[in-house]
Amino acid sequence: MVCIKKLTLIFATSMPNINYQDSINFLCKITLRRFVNGIKVLASFYLTKWTQKPVQWGVPFSISFEPTTSCNLRCPECPSGLRAFTRPIGMLEKDFFTKTIEELHQEMMYLIFYFQGEPYLNPDFLDMVKFATQKKIYTATSTNAHYLNDENARRTIESGFDRLIISIDGTTQEVYQQYRIGGNLEKC
Ligand code: SF4
Repeated sequence: MVCIKKLTLIFATSMPNINYQDSINFLCKITLRRFVNGIKVLASFYLTKWTQKPVQWGVPFSISFEPTTSCNLRCPECPSGLRAFTRPIGMLEKDFFTKTIEELHQEMMYLIFYFQGEPYLNPDFLDMVKFATQKKIYTATSTNAHYLNDENARRTIESGFDRLIISIDGTTQEVYQQYRIGGNLEKC
């Protein structure tokens, strides 16, 4: 089967339509081992639900890593923007990331590379993405795009990223900065 590989860009100002190319790309990541693991996880979920007794088979088929808790903006609904974390602010350590991926990559297939914080602030971010894509894991992230200069744009493509969500909350600077406090629309 020939995989159609293309970075999917989603602008968070609009609802994404179904992207068939992206869906095919995702399906290309499924191996027999990942498929069997997915069946195990689903089966254990329903068995637990029906029997009301904990059953755990398989390993997570999707995990989320937060590259950093820090951010350059100050969005008012975000703990990173508010500098209001109860956990330490810092960077995901590359060694911890690669060790985890090494342990799980044969069964897992979807890696979410964001939560709270601007991923591009982690200097190892794109190297970690590259490591995951080399393991044929589907990778997705979300960014405020302030660090997408020419060099990072090139490295993003080269990393093999599958899905890049660019969060923009307005088409004029006046509207945009009402939520993206400290942001500059020109930089996005
Ligand atoms: S850009 Fe994202 S991570 Fe940064 S403050 Fe806003 S919502 Fe939070």
